[in-house]
Amino acid sequence: MGQSKSVRTEVLVVGGGTAGCMAAIAAAEEGAKVILIENDTALGGVATRGGIHRYYYGSPGGLQEEIDRRTAEAAAIFGGKTKGFHPDAKRVVLAALCREKGIEVYLNSVVYEVIKEAENVAGVRVLTPDGQLEIHAQVTIDSTGNAHLVRMAGGRLRYGRGLDGVYHNYSFIPRRVLDGEIGYDNLDAGWVDPYDPWDVSRAFIRGREWVREGYAQGAHYFAVSSMLGVREGGLIEGDATITLEDYIEDRPSPEVICRSYSHLDNHGFDTGNESEFSQLWIAVMGLFVKGLWCDIPYGALLPAGIGNLLVAGRALSVDRDVGMGVRMQKDMHKVGEAAGVAAAMSIRYGFSPRELDRSGLQKRLVERGVLETEELQRTHGRNLRFKRGGLAGVELRRENAASHAEQLAYYFGTDERWKAVWLLGSSAEAAQDRQVAVLLESKLYEGTPEARFCAAITLAMLGREEAIPYLLERITAKDMNKLSNHPKCVPFWIASFVLLRMLKSTAGVSQAAAAFKEQPGAVHSTYLLDYLSAVCPMLSAGERAEAAGAVEAWLSSSELGMDYQMHGDRPESLGWSLELRAAALLAKLTGEQGWGIGGAAGAAADPRGYVRNAVARLLPWSETGMPVKEGAVPLLGEFDIAVIGAGTAEVIGAAALGRQGRKVVLIADGSALMTEVTRSRVTYFKGLDESAGGVAYELIDLLRQEGAWNGEQLEPVLVQLAADRLLQNAGVSVLYEARCLEEKKAVGRSLIEVAYKNGKGLVAAGRIIGQADRAGVKGQAVPGTLTAVLISSGSFGETAECSWMEWNHGGKRLSLRLRPGYYPEEAYLDVRWPLEFAELAGTGELLMLPAVEKLRNLGVISDGAALAYIADEPWPEGLSDRLEAAGGEKAERLWITLQIAAGLNAAAPERLDWQK
Ligand SMILES: Cc1cc2nc3c(=O)[nH]c(=O)nc-3n(C[C@H](O)[C@H](O)[C@H](O)COP(=O)(O)OP(=O)(O)OC[C@H]3O[C@@H](n4cnc5c(N)ncnc54)[C@H](O)[C@@H]3O)c2cc1C
Repeated sequence: MGQSKSVRTEVLVVGGGTAGCMAAIAAAEEGAKVILIENDTALGGVATRGGIHRYYYGSPGGLQEEIDRRTAEAAAIFGGKTKGFHPDAKRVVLAALCREKGIEVYLNSVVYEVIKEAENVAGVRVLTPDGQLEIHAQVTIDSTGNAHLVRMAGGRLRYGRGLDGVYHNYSFIPRRVLDGEIGYDNLDAGWVDPYDPWDVSRAFIRGREWVREGYAQGAHYFAVSSMLGVREGGLIEGDATITLEDYIEDRPSPEVICRSYSHLDNHGFDTGNESEFSQLWIAVMGLFVKGLWCDIPYGALLPAGIGNLLVAGRALSVDRDVGMGVRMQKDMHKVGEAAGVAAAMSIRYGFSPRELDRSGLQKRLVERGVLETEELQRTHGRNLRFKRGGLAGVELRRENAASHAEQLAYYFGTDERWKAVWLLGSSAEAAQDRQVAVLLESKLYEGTPEARFCAAITLAMLGREEAIPYLLERITAKDMNKLSNHPKCVPFWIASFVLLRMLKSTAGVSQAAAAFKEQPGAVHSTYLLDYLSAVCPMLSAGERAEAAGAVEAWLSSSELGMDYQMHGDRPESLGWSLELRAAALLAKLTGEQGWGIGGAAGAAADPRGYVRNAVARLLPWSETGMPVKEGAVPLLGEFDIAVIGAGTAEVIGAAALGRQGRKVVLIADGSALMTEVTRSRVTYFKGLDESAGGVAYELIDLLRQEGAWNGEQLEPVLVQLAADRLLQNAGVSVLYEARCLEEKKAVGRSLIEVAYKNGKGLVAAGRIIGQADRAGVKGQAVPGTLTAVLISSGSFGETAECSWMEWNHGGKRLSLRLRPGYYPEEAYLDVRWPLEFAELAGTGELLMLPAVEKLRNLGVISDGAALAYIADEPWPEGLSDRLEAAGGEKAERLWITLQIAAGLNAAAPERLDWQK
């Protein structure tokens, strides 16, 4: 990489996702000079690149209204019906808006270092397709989702759940047509540590295994997401933190910048591993879908101890349980907009973001529609007001709940029971009032089973032992009643263990031990383990032995955790978690820290980063093989050979070397393999001379096995699955989303410094091969071809052929072409722009709207056809020229064949420098 260049801006936004795009556009609208950096090849984050194109909860207002309107207009031109909003229409609108507002956008560029001056962030170092760049900014906004900049700047974060550091499930989302709509399969794919580059790489591969299962069940997908759907990462410690009480009671904040509306979504069923609050709220009270309003204070965007940095997006400063709710797209849009306005105002008035006058900011946010005036003058909350009954319209506070005990208890029998439980159960006055206890105790034995259980919950929250006999009865009777039909809500007998735990009562130990003997399922086991862990210090020696014996016997089951299902009914064993929890519990029960470490020792070297995190939290005495998390640049591994790039040639070359017994790593800057096919959509492939043999033929066999090749065309999603298998079979490690920054010579080996979203790492290799031939997507004056997938309600048939046609667009010459896709109902639209159209290189998607319109007017694209997806990258640089020389489609086949032939050279390692 060459010498690093340096530029200056007023506002720098890192992360062009859900919140970041809004931040950049708002800051530019407020008059600031803005640079926006995005790691992906297009803007929009989770919504456009992570495949989640449906709003769910969230609150309206602000800039998003215009974006949604323009997205709907663009979608009408693209055609068809879409579940939610059209993700690629939104991608086009965001690109257009950034261009209209004069924002300088760097796509395909990763920020890997923060430049600090004293405690202030002064800029960042970024790797762009054109090389390294230093950007100096007056105010920087961290909208990376995971607060990567705050980490790089040395800020404090809270990581995952308190118990074991595990985050909510991630999804990896493929797109397909579902019930006549452009839709997606949003199914959980497992767990991931978003800060561990190997774990991120593993998660992509695992996610694609789920995609393979989708095909096995008859689905066919036209794309997979380019990024993981990470629901949760670290949460910053900010100047202000939204606490659980703020959230549930909807406490007004004097420095509110916007409102949020959501439910608390822990995205898992192992709620017995979550906080006491989660267990109570989601599993015991069954409030999984209950929507709640809350104020987001400005201070939640300001990372403590760091200046000139604002955080926009889901890494806000909130209690972890609140983080389950404050992350919906509409709310993150508004947080982003508020951050952008705050950054621009800070610069305009010469204050740091921390010193900015809150009322001036709020006034501007009201003018922009992000806030409503009445939200500023609010004195009471919206969440705990009763709709009907004796307390209809009454604004109740916890402080005076005891005086309303009788009326509140009435609500135990209604669908607003949770408000009554919460107000009474968390009231200090009620806890001390003997009358309240007597009243609640009497309610344990009258009314519906649900109303009685509510009395027990309330007593448990107040720490009143009067509930214990009733709870033990529920356990003995294996009471299967629940407070909600939602599958996350547990039956009363399991919920009783949660309440006994809150009461620190050991009265249920024998029953818990007995329950273990019956081999409870994975979900119920989490509650039983949690109960025993909590009461362990209070147990007698006999009780300890009884509990330990039961847990040991249960642990020996070969089926442990195998019945666990994630959202979407996907089975993913919870065995690793149950084993670790059991090991931690047995160590506590027996006082022998070594116990259970047989399984745990293996877990310490587990390839899954989240498992190693859990080992470090649950079994702190065991040594984990975790990569260094903060501070020094971590060594990510040592290899014989590092292959850089993920094109077809690199994939085949890496596989060939792996087959020769070399320890090989392939370093890919994105998340895909065989990128000409999977990211750019160059899909014609006629085959090779069968006599060639070698790894290329192994790949072709795999392509056939996966159904990825019909003798004419490649199916990009299936090609990815075949490439995954090829490298796995050859024992090649793949490091995704890592870009080569620098090569350093060391004795007997080279050290490659790689940059990824979370900073930098080192890969040691005896030999380095290739630097992939990538299309510049920012700034470079290269001609490009961008492809879009069109889908039809019927079959495209003959109509999907239209050879290159010239088109004068705004005085410049463009070329369009339609070609058939792999499936009869799919076709490809190729849009080529020439050298003089260089300014479009970074945003070729802007050409898709006029191109579709033009071809519709000419009758080439019928009304029934819709643009479903725009490819991740323009065709690789140089391909267009080669095409030109050899003449169209024939050349595409030739080109792919050449790439594979290049890979064949890998059979002779000394000839491997084909890229140099
Ligand atoms: C699977 C899933 C399903 C969901 N379902 C819904 C739903 O149905 N409806 C809803 O409203 N919400 C849903 N959510 C929540 C919501 O989509 C997210 O919380 C929200 O989009 C997060 O916005 P963000 O701006 O914080 O992050 P993102 O949108 O992820 O944006 C972060 C951006 O920063 C970039 N970036 C990160 N690090 C760097 C770096 N170092 N350099 C350069 N760029 C970087 C990333 O590439 C990314 O584009 C879902 C979330 C997930 C993951």
